[in-house]
Amino acid sequence: MRLDQMEPIVKRFYEGLEENKFYGRRCKECGAIEFPPHLACNACGYHETEWCEVSGHGRLIDFMVPGPQNDKPYLREVGKYAYGAVELDEGPQYTYVIFGISKKSAPQIRARLMAHETVGVHARVIDRPSYKELCFELD
Ligand SMILES: [Zn+2]
Repeated sequence: MRLDQMEPIVKRFYEGLEENKFYGRRCKECGAIEFPPHLACNACGYHETEWCEVSGHGRLIDFMVPGPQNDKPYLREVGKYAYGAVELDEGPQYTYVIFGISKKSAPQIRARLMAHETVGVHARVIDRPSYKELCFELD
């Protein structure tokens, strides 16, 4: 595929966020889903993927409460948050901002993860000055 024939996949992803829809790419060879979307499959390396919609629901795998060096005031205005790894119901894993976790509640959430309890999360799209940002929030 030539570069000028490639679809601007980032555009479709952000257009989806405007409508609270979450677009990923499904591998035509192995069925793995890439979310956020990539043009090629990271699971098997196949080059052909197609658009699919994902639920925006998943589970928290791990998290880290921000410290002074990586705290973002615009996120704190929305609510207490952490940075966390999420596995979507459809399989793909990625790191996002997770609302609903504070320094105070962190030990309790950590204990649930250590006990192999499912800590559910869902997508929460927040407004930025010129675009939408995909974050997650505890169920
Ligand atoms: Zn694949």
